[in-house]
Amino acid sequence: MFDTRKYGSDQAVVFEAGLHRNLMRNVADLGLTRILVLTTPQQSSLGLELAAQLGERTAGVFCRATMHTPVAVTEEAVAHLEEVGADAVLSAGGGSTIGLGKALALRTGVTQIALPTTYAGSECTPILGQTENSVKTTMRDENLRPAVVLYDPELVATLPVAMTVTSALNALAHAVEALYAQDRTPKATELALFGLRAFADSLPAVLANPTDLDARLVTQQGAWACGTVLGQVGMALHHKLCHTLGGSFDLPHAETHAIVLPHATAYNAAQVPDLLAPVAEIFGGSDPAQALWEFAKAQGAPLALRDLGIGSEDLDRAADLAVQNPYWNPREITRPGIRDLLQRAWEGHAPAA
Ligand code: NAD
Repeated sequence: MFDTRKYGSDQAVVFEAGLHRNLMRNVADLGLTRILVLTTPQQSSLGLELAAQLGERTAGVFCRATMHTPVAVTEEAVAHLEEVGADAVLSAGGGSTIGLGKALALRTGVTQIALPTTYAGSECTPILGQTENSVKTTMRDENLRPAVVLYDPELVATLPVAMTVTSALNALAHAVEALYAQDRTPKATELALFGLRAFADSLPAVLANPTDLDARLVTQQGAWACGTVLGQVGMALHHKLCHTLGGSFDLPHAETHAIVLPHATAYNAAQVPDLLAPVAEIFGGSDPAQALWEFAKAQGAPLALRDLGIGSEDLDRAADLAVQNPYWNPREITRPGIRDLLQRAWEGHAPAA
């Protein structure tokens, strides 16, 4: 049995197929009586199924969770939560839904149960990003971590193949950046390597058969490790680039991570080759960035930023923005270096330092 506590996690985490049909068994100890189920509009039928399953403990269903946690949506959800008198939220979805659960916990103190359906990993972090007037601000508070996380491979098995790949690469990006984080620890490195291996071992099997629940469960263990390590150490260039591209050019979250990762890895591997060497070992080959790019390509991941709708004329501004207020990074961030990186990522070329 996989034990997350071995890695220093103090969250209650369960991995098991069918958990979503047996919710109360794993949350009975919390003494919750009125649970508000949260989903996105696209996953409202899952929300209704869970509400039916919770029976008299259901306080309601709020299915308007939205990417990047807009404060206006959170305020609507707070009003609904107060009206129905909920003492807990069940966040069933990806990072958007889990973000809404965190935003509600922050404002009302409700207990959170997370039922993740992507690999983004927000359920394991004490981080919340919220958007107001088109500005996204991020905060960190240990109380934001959901009390219980239930990883049910049946729920992630419905993730379309393209999203499976990009969401996995989004998770891998957290682990790769953890390897060279300024505040890395041996335990964080161990977790990151566990997460990278879990995806390297199981993602090809998941893509060969998306309903292979054993392989899906291993990908969820990878998501847990990558999310947990994201909560432990600071992120660097890769995340700065993705936040710039997502925030200023409205590029989709997981796809942008998937495309940028090999390029950011190449940039930093030039400075810290030893720290990134395990990535090459895990994904095959001798060069970590090339290994990630080949892996992404073999899984059918998007490779070119131009396919996400950003024009070549935007790359100069993207480079300007990405070098402003840079995050700490192991290699000095230079405007020409970032402009070259963006060009390669835009064209979908293999990464180069
Ligand atoms: P998401 O939650 O936005 O989901 C994307 C779409 O896929 C939604 O329409 C959703 O309903 C649908 N979907 C999700 N799971 C599905 C499934 N199993 N089957 C079918 N459809 C499914 O996507 P995400 O990438 O998980 O989350 C992105 C958001 O999470 C961003 O806002 C990002 O900033 C945030 N995030 C936060 C943290 C953190 O630690 N705070 C970590 C990672 C991501």
